[in-house]
Amino acid sequence: MQSLHHDLGTPPAINASGKMTALGGSVLSDGVVTAMGEAARHHVVMDDLMAAVGREIGRATGTEDGCPTTGAASGIAIAVAAVIAGTDLSRIEALPDAGDAPCEVILPRGHSVHFGAPVRQMVALGGGRPVEVGSANKVTADHLAGAIGPRTAALLYVQSHHAVQKGMVSLAQTVEVARAHDLPVIVDAAAEGELRRWPATGADLVIYSGGKAVGGPTSGMICGSAAHMAACRAQYGGIARPMKVGKETLFGLVQALREYGSAPSGGHRPRMEKLAARLADLPGLTTRVVSDEAGRDIHRTELTVDPEAAGRDASELAAELAASGVYLRGHHAVTGRLAIDPRPMNPDEEEQLVDRLTALLDGENNR
Ligand SMILES: *Cc1c(COP(=O)(O)O)cnc(C)c1O
Repeated sequence: MQSLHHDLGTPPAINASGKMTALGGSVLSDGVVTAMGEAARHHVVMDDLMAAVGREIGRATGTEDGCPTTGAASGIAIAVAAVIAGTDLSRIEALPDAGDAPCEVILPRGHSVHFGAPVRQMVALGGGRPVEVGSANKVTADHLAGAIGPRTAALLYVQSHHAVQKGMVSLAQTVEVARAHDLPVIVDAAAEGELRRWPATGADLVIYSGGKAVGGPTSGMICGSAAHMAACRAQYGGIARPMKVGKETLFGLVQALREYGSAPSGGHRPRMEKLAARLADLPGLTTRVVSDEAGRDIHRTELTVDPEAAGRDASELAAELAASGVYLRGHHAVTGRLAIDPRPMNPDEEEQLVDRLTALLDGENNR
């Protein structure tokens, strides 16, 4: 493996930024890699495997059934297609042209985010017409209700650290509005880790990434009622065909879900407190432990960079670290803050990160 990294000129990166698509999602456990290898060695009836993995997803999420996907992004497109076309083969094969079927998907403007691509575009891919309501920082239940009409197919709620966290209508309110109008609620909970929490709100189709919190291969899943999941799986004969999931991915996803279910949870707080204390003495850095902005059980070490004392600002420091193969979380770099995410880093990589930071800030080449 190491040799292919070498041959291709793409050395392994030290990832202190989180579960990032740009850094390859998750590093897989030996159990997941073994499961994927097992899948690769045999043929299998794919419809049966898709259904069986759907049942595993249902168990893991506390729902009736599931639909495996290549990721949360395709999950959005497939969920939207499912609420528009259902299991009607002619409609499925006509999408993304929804014909005369209701196809408007209403979402709060503060949820119209870019996760690497725009959520709106994934809605359109599934044949939906995104209808954003309210303002970027203020959306109420009345905004949602006021936009509902005969063309409405679903409400979409994006539960994410990317979304605006204040001034937004809650998921509970969204479900209430949807119920009153007999409409389904689709939740994009791509990076969320509490798999039973979001379906338990009464949302109809909930989407997770398999390569983020779950720690699986590049994959995803939708969960919900048996009828909605049958409609989701039916889209593989339509718009989802270019998003088909391989047998190796399906085995890897199941194994990752099983390991995830039995793994002790924990936000790594003591580990990050230790790291914050170690880095606190470096010139130009102030450190503290912060909890996740979207309320997930994750603690990170935050570095506030004083450009005078450090000789560079936060963005420059992040770029210098990246040039040496170390990637910090830079979401707040414009405000002078970087963060270290414990989840993708092993202890050895954490040591290398400390060494690189020390060399840059405390070394002789300090500017
Ligand atoms: C990461 C992410 C996605 C896309 O998930 P993939 O599994 O990479 O396709 C969609 N929505 C949100 C909010 C995300 O954070």
